[in-house]
Amino acid sequence: MTDSDRKEGRTRKCPICGAPPAAKYRPFCSPRCADIDLGRWFSGSYSVPAVEPPEGEEWPVPEEGEDEDEAN
Ligand SMILES: [Zn+2]
Repeated sequence: MTDSDRKEGRTRKCPICGAPPAAKYRPFCSPRCADIDLGRWFSGSYSVPAVEPPEGEEWPVPEEGEDEDEAN
């Protein structure tokens, strides 16, 4: 077993189609696969609804501590 063999085995495959990646388009094998991955990211972000907290809304918080009625 040589060092190059081990490297070969650990080489990542194209996440889209599983083909050996091209050095120019790593980790993808082609610009098409890179494009597909990019499209997934965009579509994924669009499908997720944006959750934003309401602005200018404050719930009244009852204060505890000094309560003369209870002491009496
Ligand atoms: Zn590919």
